[in-house]
Amino acid sequence: MASNGAPGPQDGVKAPPYEGTTLADLPKSWTFTSSLPNDPRHANPAESHATPREQFLPRQVHGALYTWVRPEGAEDPELLAVSPAALRDLGIRADEAQTETFLQVVSGNKLLGWDEESGEGGYPWAQCYGGFQFGAWAGQLGDGRAISLFETTNPATGVRYELQLKGAGLTPYSRFADGKAVLRSSIREFVVSEALHSLGIPTTRALSLTLLRGSRVARERVEPGAIVLRFAQSWLRLGSFDLLRTRGDRVLIRQLATYVAEEVLGGWEALPGRLANPEAPTDGEVPRRGVKKDEIEGPSEVEENRFARLYREVVRRNAETVAQWQAYGFMNGVLNTDNTSVMGLSLDFGPFAFMDNFDPSYTPNHDDSLLRYSYKNQPTIIWWNLVRFGEALGELLGAGAGVDDPVFVSEGVTKEKEKEIVARAESIIMQTGEEYKATFLKEYRRLMCGRLGLKTYRESDFDQLFSSVLDIMQELELDFNLFFRRLSGLKLSEISTSQERRAKASLFFYKEGVRLVREDDARVRISEWIELWRQRIVDDWGENGSVSEERDAERSAAMKAVNPNFIPRGWILDEVIQRVEKKGERDVLDRVMHMALHPFEDTWDSREFDGVEYKGDAEEEARWTKDVPESVRSLQCSCSS
Ligand code: AMP
Ligand code: MG
Repeated sequence: MASNGAPGPQDGVKAPPYEGTTLADLPKSWTFTSSLPNDPRHANPAESHATPREQFLPRQVHGALYTWVRPEGAEDPELLAVSPAALRDLGIRADEAQTETFLQVVSGNKLLGWDEESGEGGYPWAQCYGGFQFGAWAGQLGDGRAISLFETTNPATGVRYELQLKGAGLTPYSRFADGKAVLRSSIREFVVSEALHSLGIPTTRALSLTLLRGSRVARERVEPGAIVLRFAQSWLRLGSFDLLRTRGDRVLIRQLATYVAEEVLGGWEALPGRLANPEAPTDGEVPRRGVKKDEIEGPSEVEENRFARLYREVVRRNAETVAQWQAYGFMNGVLNTDNTSVMGLSLDFGPFAFMDNFDPSYTPNHDDSLLRYSYKNQPTIIWWNLVRFGEALGELLGAGAGVDDPVFVSEGVTKEKEKEIVARAESIIMQTGEEYKATFLKEYRRLMCGRLGLKTYRESDFDQLFSSVLDIMQELELDFNLFFRRLSGLKLSEISTSQERRAKASLFFYKEGVRLVREDDARVRISEWIELWRQRIVDDWGENGSVSEERDAERSAAMKAVNPNFIPRGWILDEVIQRVEKKGERDVLDRVMHMALHPFEDTWDSREFDGVEYKGDAEEEARWTKDVPESVRSLQCSCSS
């Protein structure tokens, strides 16, 4: 666990050997369904189970947060790949993935924890939520093709996850679509979930990828279908609240908010108050991750209750996550409120991408002509979504100390209290907005210090090193992530004179050179920045103004440990998809997953991982970590998946 309790890269990757158990023996719970109201159409699991599968058709569901519905099941499924890190984090034994039970569970053919004969046990469900899509209210959405199976708590870590199948068939929330997922988008989600996790970025996870052999799913063309078993501590989204708000369902908003506080975010006691002095970066200290108790002030000048603390926590988590996306050049591509997690997880992977050549206006979403979900807009958009969340919590935030007053609880806002409640809610949202910015910037500074190898932070670094290097990358069209990786490997002894620095500048060019600027000018621009950076490294790592070779090697290793050598870029995923779908390859999935789970290595083939020698493909590794070929840079995807 990272120090703030968020999952970190170490969780799944370098943990000691573990035992784990079988899927059948995994401790299971159904906290979500036993705490929250179900769709009245299917009063209980036994009734749902007795309903013919084809009767689960799209419709509006009111007064409920989910419907009991089982996966459709699949003829002839083939398990294509599993994430070893996911097995470990769930506490499943490694050899379990080879069993028939595993295949039948991850393809939706076998339910665990449900006893058909007695009609007892926990039952699968699909969530009901809504969302603002591209800024417009879209009404009821919900899990249109995802069906949750059960929750399990890993006894070794105490973390509870909810397991769900994506692409498991129609639910009442499928709207006009088919409840299926195609292999192409399933490969993308499977790999990126685990890649983000290994970079230390909060995200939903993926355990397995299953091909539904013989299935034909109609998209722009007919494609094979697949199911990803994905898992998260919670699948609740801001859109879960939006739907209740537009329906005026104040009782359920309160119930769901209470559930999120108590069951998802660690209990009311764990939720923070107002941040003390959120703006203050101090020279010298690299910001820490998360918010520590001593940074939290008591009551603010506005009367705040526990729901304000809940709001602040959700906002802060999302602020940190979006800072991570910006620092690593990740774009979700469809940041609608139904794809924004109450836990601040990266969620719902459609047309996502990692940045190739740095362009703040780039969006991976082919259909996003207004660039709403472009790289540079992500922080603003997440805040826009969080304001909608503030509005959904509005009367709870605004009620202040009167939030538990029986008249307020049963009647809501009275005419004479209305002004006061609105004003209070607004000021809490505004003030939390300041915290959002401060939390974002703090996390962004921390990550950029790490990526640049700085051990201290100075206010001047923000402009002189962070912003200026982005300007250079944009102007010269340099690859964002390769820049940091290549900088990590540069030795200080190779850049001590301006001549050397200019010579080394081409390390950051694509192999065909720079396009928009004369090459000499490009070398000057980069070498001037390198000199500023070099001086800061000497300040942070040197003794008496110089850095020994050993210290410089330490610096290089520290940088490599946070600057990935491998990221699953669009073109790599496209290649993997082609090879799996068209050429029937399978092992390539294990290899891409292995690289995604160990992104900071220089090489993978024939090296030892977790005590076992790994057989990779050195040629492929080299190709996937070099320059992105020109014709496949900055690819875009459509939403159809
Ligand atoms: P997304 O843009 O993927 O977040 O999806 C928006 C909404 O459409 C969610 O409620 C999804 O469950 C639903 N949806 C997307 N694709 C499908 C599909 N093939 N079948 C059923 N529902 C879908
Ligand atoms: Mg979605």
